[in-house]
Amino acid sequence: MDLENLEEVLQNEPKYRLKEARDFVFVKFIDNWNQATSFSKELRERLNKECPLYIEAQSLVSKNGDSIKSKIKLKDGLEIETVLMRHEDGRNTVCVSCQVGCPMNCAFCATGTMGFIRNLTADEILEQVILFNRYLKNGERSDRSPFRVTNVTFMGMGEPFLNYDNVLKAIKVLNDANAFNISIRNISISTCGIIEGVEKLANSGLQVNLAISLHAPNNELRSKLMPINKRYSLDEVLKAVDNYILKTKRKVMFEYVLIKDINDTDDCAKELAGLFRNPTSPRLRGARKLYFLNLIEYNTTGKFQASSRNRIEEFKKILKKAKINFVQRYKFGQDIKGACGQFVTGK
Ligand code: SAH
Repeated sequence: MDLENLEEVLQNEPKYRLKEARDFVFVKFIDNWNQATSFSKELRERLNKECPLYIEAQSLVSKNGDSIKSKIKLKDGLEIETVLMRHEDGRNTVCVSCQVGCPMNCAFCATGTMGFIRNLTADEILEQVILFNRYLKNGERSDRSPFRVTNVTFMGMGEPFLNYDNVLKAIKVLNDANAFNISIRNISISTCGIIEGVEKLANSGLQVNLAISLHAPNNELRSKLMPINKRYSLDEVLKAVDNYILKTKRKVMFEYVLIKDINDTDDCAKELAGLFRNPTSPRLRGARKLYFLNLIEYNTTGKFQASSRNRIEEFKKILKKAKINFVQRYKFGQDIKGACGQFVTGK
């Protein structure tokens, strides 16, 4: 798919043509301009040539059918992965990639092993959502509804705050009532803790959800798991989040992947609970009431092992006792390597 020349191709057409074209692509989800029946034959042919809508993708469906992982080939031949998760309550969530590869090199994540290749354009981010919207539109109408993507999370390959402008550009189209029309509160950005990004988002006025990949309750362990922690320490990240909360009054989600014998001990749970206590500084008081913890089962990528059921229960007991707000995330798509941290291409 390539929409780069869309405006140019339509430049001698009446103004409303561009709006119509966007409606075909972002609302009706056509996959060939021949379906744009209100356009002349010449225009359709020109658009097919200069702004092709075809998406080259290979897809894998999980055994129970609730998730689909797709590998999309981009214009320059590079590949990215994206996944659709169909929840029982009818939500359809797409987890999108925002970079090819990732420069962060977190020890537990498969994407990091690829290194960083390049940022995605806003169109390449949208392409992932379009792919699944096309799929849902044509799907069987028997079981789940609605038949469109309702939620988008930036939790695929890459670090969204290192591609801030394109990510925000894509979010504006996802949220646009004349395009994807996805509620802004159903869109989430997950970051490993790039402070400038957190600050920029706080000032953007956008009501998008923010998630922070935490994964360790202290600097020593976090730096071992996530090299970025050496640049932005835990306390600095939390302070930026506190400021974000005071400014936006929005809840912030912290993600914590439970890794056997690494960050799943009782001591880690206690230390983690400590981070959820409110700061003593009068200005930041109360901010951490809006902290929310998301416990994630580790998906094997080679190096580490997942914590046992038992250990996870013990860990949760400590959090419960400390009255921490938390949930354990439902695990989608493990059998198709479409779960968190399992996205990798080019191997
Ligand atoms: N770079 C961003 C977004 C991509 S990761 C970030 O760091 O937040 C999306 C989520 O999946 C993060 O919380 C990440 O830490 C988590 N994740 C990475 N590897 C994982 C693994 N092997 N098992 C479970 N979750 C993992």
